[in-house]
Amino acid sequence: MDSTLGTLPPAPVAIVGGGPVGLSLALGLARQGMRSILLERKAATSDRSKAPAIHLRSREIFRQWDTEQPLLDAGVLVRSLPLYRAATGRRPLLSFEFSELETEADRPGILFLEQGRTERVLLEAVRETGLCDLRFDSEVVRLVPGDGGVRLTVREEGAQRVLDAEFAVGCDGGGSFVRKALGLPFEGVTLPVRATLADIHVTDGRDSLPWPRTSNDRSTITSTQRLAPRHWRIVRLEADDPRQDGDVSEEEVHRSAAESWERGQRRCCGRAGSGSSGARVRASVSAACCSPETPRTSSRRPWARA
Ligand SMILES: Cc1cc2nc3c(=O)[nH]c(=O)nc-3n(C[C@H](O)[C@H](O)[C@H](O)COP(=O)(O)OP(=O)(O)OC[C@H]3O[C@@H](n4cnc5c(N)ncnc54)[C@H](O)[C@@H]3O)c2cc1C
Repeated sequence: MDSTLGTLPPAPVAIVGGGPVGLSLALGLARQGMRSILLERKAATSDRSKAPAIHLRSREIFRQWDTEQPLLDAGVLVRSLPLYRAATGRRPLLSFEFSELETEADRPGILFLEQGRTERVLLEAVRETGLCDLRFDSEVVRLVPGDGGVRLTVREEGAQRVLDAEFAVGCDGGGSFVRKALGLPFEGVTLPVRATLADIHVTDGRDSLPWPRTSNDRSTITSTQRLAPRHWRIVRLEADDPRQDGDVSEEEVHRSAAESWERGQRRCCGRAGSGSSGARVRASVSAACCSPETPRTSSRRPWARA
């Protein structure tokens, strides 16, 4: 070992990454009575909505870990999901009835909860177990598998420390450092679709519109969901080659927003969504989700509130 490096106490399991997967693993291990150390390079859990829906199977697992109720308390459980066309207002196109699963499952439905809030509930549950050494601002910069386990080098507080663990688990997201350190391939394909996403505040009467609302033409699908009171998400999927796309600067977002505001039924959503990790952001969102046929109580910038 490099004698200039400090050490961290050895751990049975080192979890690299404190997103929903890393936190869930820490909780699951703790419920089995197993200690772990969780290393997260960021200073805190995410404050983004990212994955905002928790499906039944995940909730069943959280239930076994006594963590379903705080998640239910934090979010909105939807047991019937009618899908509305934006242009036709309040008449649903079709409906998913999760209540039909009631004979087979307990509390079927989709739980809508922003990912940042899910992470905070999980973090609290992990903390309460007392079995996980939670370390934020701790980035794993080296990982070397050996005979009896794994040696990790962790950068924290400007210093590097060595950690010996029996197991290391890469829960470090799409660009996984662990995967690359082990020389593992990234399996899967990139779909020829470009996604644009905006989280916006709706402060007028449209906050009470039924949702989700959707609209499509030959090459795009736009949909909206209400994640929480006054908090809506707009997602637009466009047939395109995402590899041709680049990150959009904040300046470009503002320029685009100003332009789109001038164009009839186009609506801008300011800075909403800008800065999100890797997401392609466009400020102009088709008016499809806010057509003239839908109620509007304000003539001021609808949808917009950065
Ligand atoms: C803008 C956006 C919108 C999204 N919308 C949806 C959606 O609508 N529906 C959906 O299902 N999914 C959505 N996702 C995807 C969803 O957020 C991810 O699938 C989910 O976060 C994956 O969880 P994870 O724990 O595997 O990884 P992550 O949440 O990415 O967590 C990995 C963690 O590892 C940490 N880390 C990375 N490298 C290191 C290192 N070397 N040392 C220490 N820590 C490290 C990172 O800081 C991060 O906190 C969205 C993602 C984004 C960015």
